[in-house]
Amino acid sequence: MIVLLLGAPGAGKGTHAARIADHTGLPHVSSGELLRGAVERKTELGVKAKEHMDAGSLVPDEFMLAWIEELLDDSVYESGIILDGFPRTVPQAEGLDKLLAAKGLATDLVLLLDITQDAAAERLLSRVTCGKCGAIHNLAQKPMEVPGICDACGGELETRADDVRETIEKRFVEFRKQTEPMIEYYRSRGNFETINTNRAVDAVRQDIRDLLDRVSAATS
Ligand code: AMP
Repeated sequence: MIVLLLGAPGAGKGTHAARIADHTGLPHVSSGELLRGAVERKTELGVKAKEHMDAGSLVPDEFMLAWIEELLDDSVYESGIILDGFPRTVPQAEGLDKLLAAKGLATDLVLLLDITQDAAAERLLSRVTCGKCGAIHNLAQKPMEVPGICDACGGELETRADDVRETIEKRFVEFRKQTEPMIEYYRSRGNFETINTNRAVDAVRQDIRDLLDRVSAATS
């Protein structure tokens, strides 16, 4: 099963992608997470991506398309994939469709996580990530038992460099300019569902599970 998770920054893509991966057993790939790793390791892609990420703008399509082509050649993803954060532009979506079609594949579910900009911005400003286990926490919703330490594994919590008000604003501008047209591209093509994520995380998780079970029953 191939699932694409779309949504504005702060819509909950990372949180729910990890849960979908647990539920389905499929590998979860976050383009943002992989890019942050590449930046840290100073790989060729990381060096090219850094200035765009720091500025809150998107990494150019040519780099992202080369990245996805290489990724999809990995046999780990033969049984399916949960893609979180990719595609983000119309050319990326078209490129992905072509790569999948060349392998005789197509997306089974394109899921838009929908949230208002104000609610998403509030979430981003109180979001922290565990440097050890990668868990995403929201301190406004649930403060940690020991401040700065992950409740799940005891690792140290980090705030993403781009989760500051000015960069968040720029990321929303990019979303409206580049990603919203891509959402319309998918909306018109079937297999497209929307879930409102401006609700308690467990209610959203249950709705996503129900949806995945329906899609999986229909595709098996
Ligand atoms: P995310 O972790 O999904 O919020 O992504 C963080 C940053 O990585 C974004 O603001 C972009 O600069 C970059 N990025 C992630 N995915 C993509 C993509 N598909 N296309 C272009 N840039 C991306």
